Amino acid sequence: MVIGKNRNGQILINETAIRHNVQQAVDRLPRGTELFAVVKADGYGHGAVVAARLAKQAGATGFCVAILDEAIQLREAGFVTEPILVLGLTDVAQLALIAKYQITVTVADVAWLHDAQRVKQALGLTTPIKFFLALDSGMGRIGLQTPAEVDTFVRDYATLHPDFEWQGVYTHFATADSPDQEYFDFQVANFRELLAQFPHRPRYVSVANSATDLWHSIPEANLVRYGVAMYGLNPAGTALTPPFPLVPALSLTSELVYVKQVQSGRSIGYGATYQVDTPQWIGTVPMGYADGLRRDLQGFFVLINGQRCPIVGRVCMDQLMVKLPKHLPVGTKVTIIGSDQEQTISLQEMAEYCHTIHYELACGFSTRVPRLYYAGDAQTKGLR
Ligand SMILES: *Cc1c(COP(=O)(O)O)cnc(C)c1O
Repeated sequence: MVIGKNRNGQILINETAIRHNVQQAVDRLPRGTELFAVVKADGYGHGAVVAARLAKQAGATGFCVAILDEAIQLREAGFVTEPILVLGLTDVAQLALIAKYQITVTVADVAWLHDAQRVKQALGLTTPIKFFLALDSGMGRIGLQTPAEVDTFVRDYATLHPDFEWQGVYTHFATADSPDQEYFDFQVANFRELLAQFPHRPRYVSVANSATDLWHSIPEANLVRYGVAMYGLNPAGTALTPPFPLVPALSLTSELVYVKQVQSGRSIGYGATYQVDTPQWIGTVPMGYADGLRRDLQGFFVLINGQRCPIVGRVCMDQLMVKLPKHLPVGTKVTIIGSDQEQTISLQEMAEYCHTIHYELACGFSTRVPRLYYAGDAQTKGLR
């Protein structure tokens, strides 16, 4: 999709906030523990390359992404030496690219290693393929689940070894963001049981996403995979308070492009779901669900001149309408996410309104919304 460079609407990214959020996490790491910045999904919508650069400045020593193309994007942007771990599974058919770009892949069963070895030898690739082994301690997504599977893996690896470099092992928690500790503890116990099968530990042992890093501590681990919190978003929503304030980096602004008075008896938007019962001022904002704003934001708010103004009628693909307190000129700034004077609309509040999580909204903003970067401050201004 084209980037809308010449439109009235943009995502603003506070670079200082991202650097600050990463720095806070790096400062708390036990000695010998590293932090890889998770910049998958275009840095959760914030821009992967910029997010990676800021995280590196703040002390991140590597990166995690979800798919091989995201890893290649970082290499081509100039991150040539840092480890880049692909958290999803990569097909052995991509082995030449994995080797060329020196990407670390996730391996979740021993069959992958056998297949990869065949491909590697057929292609005559000489450099060892770096990998992390995924252990499924209870997330139920990818990874070895039982000590027997780990045993087989370790035994086969001994014969496959020269073709590979076993760099690390990781697991992923399903409930690290919950005040209820029970399932988390169950996963930790499973993880320890699996880890006990290893004749020796690989260089990296990783258990922590943002939530695990913020609210738990597992002494065996020495690598944090720091994602959503680096963008200033609380992984628990509002269920748990982070040990230090996170500063949201993203705001989204636009402006009124059309303002009119509407008489009673008329409706606003598709389906005529908002009926005008007294004459009122209605403004049109040129952003819609094709930009990543949810259609179910009808009834939610935007900020204009420091005041909350309701979104009236259904959000259209490219435009939405708001009820104004009075006539306001075309060109008046509209804050869809962020602060305006004393008022703030956070991604968290918007996500709650749409019955989802801020993660989904952040990575759902379309590429047609331009991302503009600025050096802001590292204040939270009462964001939740
Ligand atoms: C996305 C992801 C992370 C980062 O999670 P956050 O909650 O954003 O910190 C870490 N590990 C894995 C395996 C992931 O898929």
